[in-house]
Amino acid sequence: MRGVGGFYYVHLHLYNELNTEQTCYECRAKGSFRNQHIKPMVGDEVEIDIISEENKTGNITDILERKNALVRPAVANIDQAVIVFAGRDPEPNYNLLDRFLISMEIQQADTVICFNKTDLEKEKIKVIAGEYEACGYRTVLTSTKTGDGIDELRELIRGKTTAFAGPSGVGKSSLLNALSPSLLAKTGDISEKIKRGKHTTRHSEIMCVSEDTYILDTPGFSSLNVMDIEAEELKNYFREFARYEQECRFSGCVHINEPDCGVKEALCAGRISAIRYDNYKQMYSELKEKRKW
Ligand code: GDP
Ligand code: ZN
Repeated sequence: MRGVGGFYYVHLHLYNELNTEQTCYECRAKGSFRNQHIKPMVGDEVEIDIISEENKTGNITDILERKNALVRPAVANIDQAVIVFAGRDPEPNYNLLDRFLISMEIQQADTVICFNKTDLEKEKIKVIAGEYEACGYRTVLTSTKTGDGIDELRELIRGKTTAFAGPSGVGKSSLLNALSPSLLAKTGDISEKIKRGKHTTRHSEIMCVSEDTYILDTPGFSSLNVMDIEAEELKNYFREFARYEQECRFSGCVHINEPDCGVKEALCAGRISAIRYDNYKQMYSELKEKRKW
């Protein structure tokens, strides 16, 4: 569920028909995987040896095979990410949104875009959400004040492990609370132990909403570098470019300075979002710059 200063908090789930008992063990990593330089990650499924039932301590002896492992956020076995922005207060940062989307595309994880605080701003957000839907992204409009969209979001995360990300102030904590009011109480035992450790740093943490539904709360972020790819590859991660690329005159067209470019024509015709295209150009030149160094 969480790793702090060499301790890993392993959540054991015991279910029976009448009650749900959740127990958290404070573990050290002891297994042979250490020799292979594999470290437990948040989201890992592990095997543990219990050292003390009373103190709830143990050793991690094995890490089960990972379905996937993301670098940013550092988490294993997630099914999808939900990126949260606010309709207003703070204004959505589309550059950051696109960077997050591209970063997830590169890591082959699916993303749902959530615009919260729709009680403050709805009409403008509906238009933007429509643009991202047209690119092939699932969007959900929520308000923790009116309860709008919360059921839809709850449905989207059901039976899955979802990483929640977003800049601070957008209402991520409020959303997580709305999705599962008992979430905080349930993780109380983990929080208590964390307080004894370093509680100044914010770490990623997985929380259990119900038997098969998990949420990963990732620390808020304000910037995101484009991941380590070649500038020429970047276009492949903008989903909406694909259908216009066959109109490009040159096969290796990166849709920037080339003549007869299908993507730029689509942009001029308003079929590709100008915001997305500008962010593409910015990320492209950043990657080019990085190459030089
Ligand atoms: P976080 O930093 O993303 O975890 O954001 P919080 O959940 O702490 O919320 C930041 C502020 O936004 C708080 O004052 C919340 O009451 C407020 N807030 C959260 N959700 C909404 C919403 O849907 N509408 C409005 N108007 N305010 C919200
Ligand atoms: Zn082109």
